[in-house]
This record gives sequence, C-alpha cells and structure tokens, in this order.
Amino acid sequence: MKFLLVNDDGIQAPGLSSLLETVKPHGKAFVIAPQRERSGASHSITIGHPLRLLETELGFALDGTPVDCVKMGLRGQKWPVDFVLSGINNGPNLGTDALYSGTVAAALEAALLGVPALAFSLCGSSDYLPGASHFIAKLLFGKSTVLKRISELCPAAVLNINIPALPQEDIKGFKITRSAILRYENVMEKRLDHRGNPYYWMGGEPRCLGEPEEDWDLIAVERGYVSITPLRFDFTNYEQIPGLRLALAEDFA
Ligand code: MN
Repeated sequence: MKFLLVNDDGIQAPGLSSLLETVKPHGKAFVIAPQRERSGASHSITIGHPLRLLETELGFALDGTPVDCVKMGLRGQKWPVDFVLSGINNGPNLGTDALYSGTVAAALEAALLGVPALAFSLCGSSDYLPGASHFIAKLLFGKSTVLKRISELCPAAVLNINIPALPQEDIKGFKITRSAILRYENVMEKRLDHRGNPYYWMGGEPRCLGEPEEDWDLIAVERGYVSITPLRFDFTNYEQIPGLRLALAEDFA
C-alpha cells in the first residue's frame, strides 16, 4: 500500500516523523510537508509566488500550504497513492475548529482529488505521541478493516481523527462522532506596542452552540475515547434546496 504523508505543522514537526515511523513498516510512504508551520492555513493555496521544493532527510518540504503539498504530491498521480494521511497534528481539530485546520484541509483536498484521506490530531502534549501512534497503527494495520472498507465504499472518504492526550493504556477505545459547533468569544486581545500603537492577538474561548450531545467529537475525547468523524467537502445544504426553489419560483413568477 502507498501513502502520501502531509501535515500543517511543517516538515520538522515531531507528529509527522511519528506518523512516518508508524506507517513505514506496512507500506511505502512519501512525505511532502510545508517548509514552516502552516497551522490555521485551512484550504488556502499559493498563487502569488512560485513554489520551491526542497529535499530533506524525511521527504520533501514545500514553501506552500498543506493543500499545496497535496496538490504537488498527487499531481498527475505519477506515484499512485492509495491513501493520504495528514498529521499527526500538534493539538486538537475538534468541532468547527476543523474549518480552520490545514491538517483537515489537506485530507479534504486529497478526497477532492479522488484519494481517500485520514487526518490525525493529538489533543495535547507531544509526550503522548507514542500512544497516538499505537492507536493509528492498530486502526490502519491491525484487525480493523477500515482502510479496505474506505477504499471499497467511498473513494472520497475523509476521516477526522482526534486522539486524546493520554498514555496508550488509558485510551478507552474509539467513538464515531459528529462535529460540535463552536463559537469563539473575546477573540481579539488588544495590546500596545512600545510606541503606544495597538496590535491584536487572535485567541478567545470556544463556547459550544447548544447543549453538549453524547455523540459530539469533543465529548468523546474528553471521556478518553478517540473521536472519528467522517467529513465531506460538499458544503451544499440539501435540506434547503426544495424551499429555496419554491420561494424563488414564487418571487419570480
Ligand atoms: Mn497544526
């Protein structure tokens, strides 16, 4: 089996080398990652300057975004890839935070290009990378038939996988979940520079929209389970199509 490995934390991130070590014994792995950290890059692409590709010990470093890396790695499918693996991200990609994530966007881009993808995030300290890697190895190469099922059932599959920051033995298992809806409060923190001019740090506290539900991704992680959420790149709100058609037909009759 052939894997393309990407991330948004950059080529030097410990999560990427962990993922490579996990996958290497089971197949061929090809790495292409941003040259520097591009967390929060979401689905952005580079069109204002040319891209430079640098060969490193681990794989290729591209001075672009995670989505640029996927486009470069899968271009023309010169090296046919069975799965794209993204991560292991340094920090969670839970709920609607996944919208900002370069790790998740790389997986979505892969699926858009016809290659199923899994995005992995470790919800805490990199001290717990061994536990996360152990779970990933079990999921991908253990008795689980997830890879086979994904490739058979849905070539555009994207799984957003969040792993709790716990020692291997304390991870209780996994749950198939849905994304929580998060809205941030107090997002911009104002500070003053040495000339007295204001500058701002993006931050804020996430608040759940609605009462927490049992099948939310962040609840699963909070309880010590790995959260697996299937995502898709089709943003269409199908429920609204009939109503919109009707309303517009009446308006323009
Ligand atoms: Mn990141």
